[in-house]
Amino acid sequence: MYLKQLDTLGFKSFAERVKIEFVPGVTAVVGPNGSGKSNITDAIRWVLGEQSAKSLRGVKMEDIIFQGSDTRKALNVAEVTLVLDNSDNRLPVDYQEVSVTRRVYRSGESEFLMNKQPCRLKDITELFMDSGLGREAFSIISQGKVEEILSSKSEERRVIFEEAAGVLKYKNRKKQAEYK
Ligand code: ATP
Ligand code: MG
Repeated sequence: MYLKQLDTLGFKSFAERVKIEFVPGVTAVVGPNGSGKSNITDAIRWVLGEQSAKSLRGVKMEDIIFQGSDTRKALNVAEVTLVLDNSDNRLPVDYQEVSVTRRVYRSGESEFLMNKQPCRLKDITELFMDSGLGREAFSIISQGKVEEILSSKSEERRVIFEEAAGVLKYKNRKKQAEYK
């Protein structure tokens, strides 16, 4: 499995439709300060279901929508699509390619799509849970996170190992079943 493509429209500084294609192996993004490098990882985090505006370096979710510049008007919608190559079937679906889309409007409405079909956030969370890619996983390590992992409490470290071992999904389902 690998990240194949990222499409953004109106996400943070990416006012226009931007398509980034990745190939297997290492990709480095370089650019001056403030040019939008971290906004790329924010976009990945967001489309994977991030619910905390603070984790996306904002105050409220609306902050991820392009807010306008000297030459461009603000937009009312932000959209990100992530395409993963799933030819090794690491994600438990019968698709060679999996796309996940998230859209949010300034009014607060939001939508999730999986392979262009509307779905719930829960479906996306479950798809990625235990794949090592989920929003709680460590596929994205931001500044300061390394220290946080090293110094986190033993119960918090346990969650990291449970995700890596692939048991988190079952624990969550058990919790939900008990709740109902
Ligand atoms: P550094 O090298 O300092 O880490 P960077 O390349 O990672 O920089 P980012 O943090 O990704 O840069 O981008 C910051 C830029 O994104 C800022 O110029 C900020 O104004 C812009 N930005 C953030 N949110 C929005 C938004 N909603 N609308 C327009 N621009 C935005
Ligand atoms: Mg940065």
